[in-house]
Amino acid sequence: MRTSTSRAARRELARSRRVLRRMERDAARRDRASLARRTSAVLVAAVLGAGWWAGDRSGWETSGLGDLWSPRAYVEVGGDAVAVPQPEPADGRVLPKVPVTTTGSYAFLHVDEAGGPVGYDPCRPVAYVTNPSGRPSALDGVVHEAAQIVSEASGVSLVHQGDVDEPPMMDRPLIQPERYGEDWVPVLVAWSDEEAFPELEGQVAGIGGSAAVPGPTGEGRWLAAGRIVLDGPDLAAMLERPDGAGQVRAIVVHELAHVLGLDHVDDTGELMHPLTRDRTDLGPGDRQGLALLGQVACRP
Ligand SMILES: [Zn+2]
Repeated sequence: MRTSTSRAARRELARSRRVLRRMERDAARRDRASLARRTSAVLVAAVLGAGWWAGDRSGWETSGLGDLWSPRAYVEVGGDAVAVPQPEPADGRVLPKVPVTTTGSYAFLHVDEAGGPVGYDPCRPVAYVTNPSGRPSALDGVVHEAAQIVSEASGVSLVHQGDVDEPPMMDRPLIQPERYGEDWVPVLVAWSDEEAFPELEGQVAGIGGSAAVPGPTGEGRWLAAGRIVLDGPDLAAMLERPDGAGQVRAIVVHELAHVLGLDHVDDTGELMHPLTRDRTDLGPGDRQGLALLGQVACRP
């Protein structure tokens, strides 16, 4: 999200979109170079395509129940095949569905074959972790405030799982067993500045997104491994403005909405417009889009 409506900012808007797309792409691509280094990083072909499935039986495993076969999709971890994380059994949604009561402009970052939204599994809490390094002290609580707003608007339960020291990176490994166990990594909210993180250059105040990953059987797609990088100096400066706190919160809500699957829209009446304006709360289309993202099917 950006912080000005000037002509120069508009020119940079195209660049911010490219950054967001690159982030999505980086999350999705299989990084052969890193595999060759045999790091412990997990590299995942997160967007289904040719080559996702092994071409033979090796892409499947038995359920251990006689002749019942349980198809599993596999990802590569340090050169080894690892089954796509199987979520804990769930007993329905964590939060009730949010009914759609408003209409406006919205767009999804990922859609399925039928054009429906790809979102987080609403039957499991979506964990987020925070890296406090570089966070202006006046902004200690803003991420949790924003998470509450987005949880209520979407019916997807965002739950804080504490502070971590994982640094922000564009090409974030989607599974990190040593840090987070065998599941997809939680949403990471981190702070940086444009020197350490060039994608925040200029008036970019934050970036955010998630990866679209297959379900445990290879069927369907859900979001996972979200990340947000916020520009600490930009947001600290913004806090000095009249209603600065509201504007900063709006930026974090905007980035969290990206994480949950909302794309930018051209309608300046929505918070998902890429430039901040007077709007500091969710607009009608933002709410419609988030409610729809929270209504996707649960992972099996
Ligand atoms: Zn944005």
